Amino acid sequence: MSTASINGGCLSSLSPSQSSLTKKSTLRPCVIARLHSSPSPSPPSLIRNKPVSIIPSLRRDMATESYEEAIAGLSKLLSAKSELAPVAAARVGQITGDLQPGDGFDPIERMKTGFIHFKREKYEKNPALYGELAKGQSPKFMVFACSDSRVCPSHVLDFQPGEAFMVRNIANMVPAYDKVRYSGVGAAIEYAVLHLKVETIVVIGHSCCGGIKGLMSFPDDGPTATDFIADWVRICLPAKSKVLAEYGDKPFPEQCTSCEKEAVNVSLVNLLTYPFVKDGLVKKTLSLKGGYYDFVSGSFELWGLQFGFSPSLSV
Ligand SMILES: [Zn+2]
Repeated sequence: MSTASINGGCLSSLSPSQSSLTKKSTLRPCVIARLHSSPSPSPPSLIRNKPVSIIPSLRRDMATESYEEAIAGLSKLLSAKSELAPVAAARVGQITGDLQPGDGFDPIERMKTGFIHFKREKYEKNPALYGELAKGQSPKFMVFACSDSRVCPSHVLDFQPGEAFMVRNIANMVPAYDKVRYSGVGAAIEYAVLHLKVETIVVIGHSCCGGIKGLMSFPDDGPTATDFIADWVRICLPAKSKVLAEYGDKPFPEQCTSCEKEAVNVSLVNLLTYPFVKDGLVKKTLSLKGGYYDFVSGSFELWGLQFGFSPSLSV
């Protein structure tokens, strides 16, 4: 076991053998805390809020009878009496405004202020960095993280633009190599390993993961009430089985916490089914890490897996 310090915090780095995946991990949590300043209000002209032709897509994607009827009526009006176009346009704006939550939150304004803050405080203050990034990217990391809005790796690990090639999905899962069902994930791994030549792939689980809670709750097979979620999280069924075998007598929340970490290990093993990943490990140009971010306690754990195989040994 070794310990590494990163950015003032510390990460425990364990190196269990592949077989130790079946043993309970002894992970040492350490704190990494990051504060981010809030966006400052700025002139909106830095963002081009161009109107786009959204009505056709809204009709397809958000169709409701009343909405369809309203838009159809407006289209008819616009084509019949061009002088009424401003009235109709105002009505369209009202209708589309009606589609937003009524809590006063303005998503466009939020994105404007966010981008303005970024551009002023980061982009314009780091011309060397963004000049290099304009030429290309050479990230050292590939990161798998959950889509959960609380666990953005760029914030949690302070990754800067160009540092980490990321995939975010429900419960930060890596499926086993499958060109038919999971080509999107495979394409990302292939690109990261073969073309970007990342040196580390890290899979980061997190506390209170809804996807893992789903995995622990859904039936192991057969139909569920979800179109996609249950089928997706079943990628890590081996983690669920292990947790139930070892912690079946524990309260459900504890089982979920254990599964959040075991699912990371399943994903690490699944990464070995990608030939270019295995090749990178054999050649020692690539390493795999598991991580766990607990946003309740403010801790981050990191562990490695050393499989200890020779080039002739298949995994
Ligand atoms: Zn999650």
